[in-house]
Amino acid sequence: MTGVHRTLDTVMTRMETGHVDAALAEHCMRRAIELGRRAAETGEGGPFGAVIVRDGAIVGEGWNQVIASNDPTAHGEIMAIRDACDRAGSFDLQGCHIYTSGEPCPMCLGAIYWARIGHVFYGFSIHAAEICGFDDQRFYQQLALPQEQRDVGQTQVLGEEAFAVLQQYLGRPDRVPY
Ligand SMILES: [Zn+2]
Repeated sequence: MTGVHRTLDTVMTRMETGHVDAALAEHCMRRAIELGRRAAETGEGGPFGAVIVRDGAIVGEGWNQVIASNDPTAHGEIMAIRDACDRAGSFDLQGCHIYTSGEPCPMCLGAIYWARIGHVFYGFSIHAAEICGFDDQRFYQQLALPQEQRDVGQTQVLGEEAFAVLQQYLGRPDRVPY
């Protein structure tokens, strides 16, 4: 039994959402890895790719385009979520899984939560990324700190005025919940 199969057995036990086919998981991860490899080769971004999977089919793809688009948020997972949502005509990816060549950074994990994606399959870990000079691990450590101890300060301004708009929004009969 290989490491990935042992891992998938664990996932199957934890997910309680049915069978995760090892061949499918490896197929999807290979695609994510390939997208990342291409991103690096074309110079569009770092070697990070991701795919969104629903019912065993790839329904969205993305790769890192930070360099090409001068966009620090253009991570593979974000681009894959945008592609899947665009194709689905929905901001809700409930029932989908994401395969990403590297463990998600806090931004991408947040987007995964917002998209209601149910499970993350990842290739290399953020510890491996840290060894290669990427900041994912440091950002996770920052987020775990109380707000006042983080490197990026936060200051509330016009809180009541801002909240009034939120209250008005919540009262709109045509509001689309998300
Ligand atoms: Zn990310």
